[in-house]
Amino acid sequence: LAEPAVEALQPEDVAALLPRPAADAQKYTRGVVGVRAGSALYPGAALLSVAGAASGLAGMVRYVGPAEVADRVRQWHPEVVGEGRVQAWVVGSGGGESAGDELRAARSDRVPTVVDADALAHVDGPQPADTVLTPHAGELAAMTGAERADVEARPLHHARGAAAAYGCTVLLKGRRTLIAEPDGRVRVTTTGTPWLATAGAGDVLGGLVGALLAARLTAYDAASVGSWLHGAAATLAGRDGPLVASDVAAAIPAAVRSLPRA
Ligand code: AMP
Ligand code: MG
Repeated sequence: LAEPAVEALQPEDVAALLPRPAADAQKYTRGVVGVRAGSALYPGAALLSVAGAASGLAGMVRYVGPAEVADRVRQWHPEVVGEGRVQAWVVGSGGGESAGDELRAARSDRVPTVVDADALAHVDGPQPADTVLTPHAGELAAMTGAERADVEARPLHHARGAAAAYGCTVLLKGRRTLIAEPDGRVRVTTTGTPWLATAGAGDVLGGLVGALLAARLTAYDAASVGSWLHGAAATLAGRDGPLVASDVAAAIPAAVRSLPRA
C-alpha cells in the first residue's frame, strides 16, 4: 500500500487555515489557551511559551505554575490571567520534575493539548487524538528508544512511526519540521532559518500551536500552521541574521500579516 505523499505547506494553505476573528467575535469564543510550564530553575521557558501563546491568535492566555514564575509572567505579559477554563493546554517547557504532574492535571480537563519538552518523557502509549507532541530528534529518540542519529537521518520514517504508535499528531522539529498524522499523512514546513537553533525557540512554538488549538484548529492544522508561522516569524525577525527566541514571538503578528489574503 502506497503511503500518502508529503505535502509541503504553502502560504495560501496557511492563509486559508488561519483562524480569523468574526466581526462579532468575543475573547471567550476566540478560545483560551492555558500554559503549564516553567520552574524555579527554568522560568524563562515559561515566559517564552506564554509569549508564543500570547501571539494574539487566541482570545486569552492563562498561566499556571510556581508563584514566583507567575509573577514574572504577569510582569512581561500583563494580559495573562491565572484562573478559568481553557480550550487547550500547552505543557512541559522548563517544567522539570513537575512536568508529569502538570501533564496529568492538563489531561483531566480533556481538551486538546500540546506536549513539549520535559512532559514528553511522561508520554507512554496511545494519546488522545487531539494531542500534539512536539519533540526534536533527541526527544523523539528518548521516547521511542531509537538512536538520535537515526531519527536525524530518517525523520520521515520516525515521525510517521511515532504518530501511528501514539495515535496523535507528531510535530518533529529540526531543519525541516515534519507534522505527521496517525493515518500516514505528513506535512513539511520549510519556512525558518538555521538561526532558529537557539535556546527557547521551541518553547515559543509550543505556545503558538496551543493558541491555534484553543482557536479550534484540528491538531494537524494547528501544528502545521504554527510551525509555518514560527519559521516565517524567525525569518522576518532575523532578516537572515541572528535572533533570540523572544524576537520570534514578537514577529508572529508580522508573519500573520505577511500571508496572502484568503
Ligand atoms: P527546540 O529544540 O525545542 O528549542 O526547538 C528548536 C526550534 O528551532 C524548532 O522549531 C526547530 O525546528 C528550529 N530549528 C532548530 N534547528 C534548526 C535549523 N538548523 N534550521 C531551521 N530550524 C531549526
Ligand atoms: Mg524544546
